[in-house]
Amino acid sequence: MIRQDAKVILDIVDLHARVEDQTILNGVNLKVRAGEIHAVMGRNGSGKSTLSKIIAGHPAYDVTSGTIYFQGENLLAMEPEERARVGIFLGFQYPIEIPGVSNLEFLRVSTNARRTQLGLEELDTFEFEDLVNERIKLVQMDPIFLNRSVNEGFSGGEKKRNEILQMALLEPIVAILDETDSGLDIDALRIVSSGVNQLAKPNTATILITHYQRLLNEITPDYVHVMNAGRIIRTGGKKLALELEKSGYEWLDAEPGNQGGLNHG
Ligand code: ADP
Ligand code: MG
Repeated sequence: MIRQDAKVILDIVDLHARVEDQTILNGVNLKVRAGEIHAVMGRNGSGKSTLSKIIAGHPAYDVTSGTIYFQGENLLAMEPEERARVGIFLGFQYPIEIPGVSNLEFLRVSTNARRTQLGLEELDTFEFEDLVNERIKLVQMDPIFLNRSVNEGFSGGEKKRNEILQMALLEPIVAILDETDSGLDIDALRIVSSGVNQLAKPNTATILITHYQRLLNEITPDYVHVMNAGRIIRTGGKKLALELEKSGYEWLDAEPGNQGGLNHG
């Protein structure tokens, strides 16, 4: 919900970034206030995942200029683990498998790291099982997945549910979901979306990265941004997503100033 007086949680200012010799982000500006849901759309290769990974602190990307403030503090100065502890959550486009690490234990360790930051007591195995069994209902996931290794042998949809479960346990302040809709059938999409909707609170914010507008039928964004060649080139409301659905992304090539994209300059 838009409230202009709500606190700015995340403030991305003129962010430029590169990987190896390639410039990928070209001056991203994005202000996210408490209670808001932002959708970031754009065609493949426009820099959406890169933006999310830089917010989470992925070491492969060099920020060459610009800043990110999280609740007024310099986010870029924090280690990735610290960002997670203070309440940045990234649901990956391609969640990784961690063979040999129990999903339950993985979730417990990350939840306890976040709880410590919040000044809450750590949960032992038994206490944590109670919590996880309650939160798992939100994503309608079979508890059997808790006993497997993290994401090992999970289908695409199961991985995404597992990520929303992790989000439900961590209770982040900013949740960034990168193409959470990819690989989901319509039932799983509804379950995941309903989880995200229930977890969105007046003091938190959500950034949905998506290529398609169907996710936005389930989760109503306050703002829709179009990313192209490493910049947000247009911002609108929910209607913008519907327009994109109709017109596709080809019109971007016709806009002045949008040539010389990532792969040719
Ligand atoms: P999107 O998520 O919008 O599809 P990405 O952020 O994944 O876009 O990628 C943007 C561009 O950056 C692409 O051209 C991609 O090949 C390049 N890129 C992203 N990550 C890396 C990396 N680790 N190494 C080299 N190139 C990368
Ligand atoms: Mg991507």
